[in-house]
This record gives sequence, C-alpha cells and structure tokens, in this order.
Amino acid sequence: MNKRIAVIGGGIGGLGVALALQKLGYSVTLYEKQEKTIELGAGIILGANAMVALDFLQLGDAIREIGWTEKFCSILTEKGKQLTKLHL
Ligand SMILES: Cc1cc2nc3c(=O)[nH]c(=O)nc-3n(C[C@H](O)[C@H](O)[C@H](O)COP(=O)(O)OP(=O)(O)OC[C@H]3O[C@@H](n4cnc5c(N)ncnc54)[C@H](O)[C@@H]3O)c2cc1C
Repeated sequence: MNKRIAVIGGGIGGLGVALALQKLGYSVTLYEKQEKTIELGAGIILGANAMVALDFLQLGDAIREIGWTEKFCSILTEKGKQLTKLHL
C-alpha cells in the first residue's frame, strides 16, 4: 500500500486530517497556498463532536486548559431578542 498522501489546504480541516492520517501511519505532505498564517484574535466555539476529534488528535486537554465550557447558548435576532436558548 502506498502510504503517502497529499492534503490540500492548511485550514482546520486540512490540519486536522493531516494530523489524523499521520497518527494512522501515513506520510502526509500538506500544501497551503497562503505564504503566511495570520492571527485574527477571535474566539472559536468548539462543539462536543469537535472535542471528540481533538481528543483523538491528543489536542483536547491542551485546548481545555486555555478554553472554558459554556452551559447555555442563545440564538438572538439582530435586535437582541432571544429566539431560543440551548442547554449545552
Ligand atoms: C467569522 C467566522 C466565525 C466562525 N466561527 C466558528 C466557530 O466559532 N466555531 C466553528 O466550529 N466554526 C466557526 N467558523 C467556521 C470555520 O471557520 C470553518 O468551518 C472552518 O474554518 C473550515 O475549515 P476548512 O479547513 O474546511 O476551510 P478553510 O479554513 O477555509 O481552509 C482552507 C485552506 O485551504 C487553502 N487553500 C485553498 N485552495 C488551495 C489550493 N488550491 N492550494 C493550497 N491551499 C489552498 C486556503 O488558503 C485555506 O487556508 C467560523 C467562520 C467564520 C467566517
């Protein structure tokens, strides 16, 4: 079996799949068209399914250390009226 794989795109999807394939024993080359990464300084919401994937990649604990868990999530109209509140 040829165990060399090319992954196109170094966003979270490409980085995640490249790391997962490496853990499964494949030799991965990742191609990203941008020469530099830029830091946006924005937060990111990670769902429970994302944390399962990040745990598989052995990144979950490091992320838990720098993040926090929310108990609720609300969906609001553009004027701030609550449409729904989800218990997470
Ligand atoms: C404002 C905003 C807020 C968001 N907040 C959240 C959030 O809180 N939680 C969440 O889960 N998701 C969030 N998302 C969605 C999340 O950012 C995307 O779902 C995610 O980034 C998609 O990842 P991706 O790797 O599939 O694609 P991308 O992040 O788009 O990465 C694709 C990469 O491929 C590269 N590329 C493209 N074409 C080529 C090529 N031909 N050759 C080489 N490289 C190439 C691009 O340069 C890019 O780096 C948010 C999105 C936005 C816009």
